[in-house]
Parts: sequence; C-alpha cells; structure tokens
Amino acid sequence: MQGFEGLLFYQIQCKSLVAALTDLPVSVLNSHTHYDHVGGNYQFSSLYGVASDYTAANAKGRTNDEVREFVGSGWVWKDMPNGVTVDNYVSRAFEISDVIADGEIIDLGGRELKVFHVPGHAPDAVVLIDREARLMWTGDSFYPATLYAHLVGSNVAQYEKSAERMAILGTDVDILLPSHNEPWVSSDYLVAMHWAFIAMQKQGADYRISDGDREYGFDGFTIMVNDPAPWEQR
Ligand SMILES: [Zn+2]
Repeated sequence: MQGFEGLLFYQIQCKSLVAALTDLPVSVLNSHTHYDHVGGNYQFSSLYGVASDYTAANAKGRTNDEVREFVGSGWVWKDMPNGVTVDNYVSRAFEISDVIADGEIIDLGGRELKVFHVPGHAPDAVVLIDREARLMWTGDSFYPATLYAHLVGSNVAQYEKSAERMAILGTDVDILLPSHNEPWVSSDYLVAMHWAFIAMQKQGADYRISDGDREYGFDGFTIMVNDPAPWEQR
C-alpha cells in the first residue's frame, strides 16, 4: 500500500501549509470548482460556494479515471508530491457549508473582500476584489496564458459579459492575482481581455487550430474556443 501512504502524506501536507500561515479560523472559497482547484477542499469544514447544480456536481469529487490524465506527462511540470502517482490520484468529495452570492462582502476584520459571479470559464466562477488594497483575485477567468472558453461548462457569450464586467471593475484595482502561470500581473489586462472577446468574434479574425479547438492569439494571452465557434452556430 505504498501509494496509499503517499496519498496520506500529501493530504496532511496540504492542510499543514495553511496552518503554517495563520492561527485564525480558515474558510475556503474556490474561484470555481474545476478539479484542479478543489483537491484539498475535503480537509476544511467551512467552505463557501455558489448555489448551482454545477458546483453540487463537482462537490461529489472525481475518480482516478476522470483525473489521471491531468497528472500524466505533459500536464505536470514539477515532481509529484511523495507517493502520488497517475494511478492513485483522485479529487475527493467535499461539502459546501455556506452559499455565497454575487455582490456579497466577506468581512475578514479590517479587510473586506467583495464577491462577483463571473460565469464563462466555468458556470460558478467568481472573482474577489479588495478595493482598499486595489487587488483582484481572478481565478482562471484571467491569467496571462491560454484562457479556456472551450471546456464542458464554458460559455463564450457569458465569458464576454464577465470580461466586460471585470474590465469595469478593473478600474478599481491595480493588480490581478490569477490562479495559474503568474501570481501578480497588471489590471490593464482586463480591458485587453474584454477587447479580445469582441475582436475574436469579428468575421475573418485569425486563429489556429490546437487539438481540434480554436486558439485566438492576443498580446500576452490567448483564448481557446470550440471549432466551429459558438457564435457561428447561433
Ligand atoms: Zn478552471
């Protein structure tokens, strides 16, 4: 049972990391519930989530069959945690304890975070804004790399609306804290992302085919959509 012991080590490591950062009570709020953001959720009893069927479905966890591909070669850039392998990796079920809605404020005591529901990348995607510190946590809704608008559950029309909203909200922040690729980037990207969603839907916009999907290129990021594009099927 070497693999099982390894999995336990990884699970303990995840919670102890948070414990090393603070003695205060901890609540988890995922930027969205894709499998690669919720693997440690089951370790915490206070979990915020959007009220949606999508969230409820993801809270049931993912079997090894469903997620093994994503810890295989080409997906993971660093060594796996001790004992975790392609054959034993799973995303365990979790339970949302508190429903969170658009516009809600999370008062941390001397610091307020406002929640905005921004569906598009995923139906339950949210961003958090700290207006005083001029920061926005963008999750996967923006990072300076390939943005995924082609997944099951993604919606380009909603993503465009959310990008517009994020661009407007972006006037209140200076820095974005994305969940992949870069930890800290300029909020100028939000206007560029909104513009990109409009530009790529124009007739004749240039793209390349990547693994059967379309990839539209912009300055510092790209956007993946299905082929044919959803706006051509409306
Ligand atoms: Zn995601």
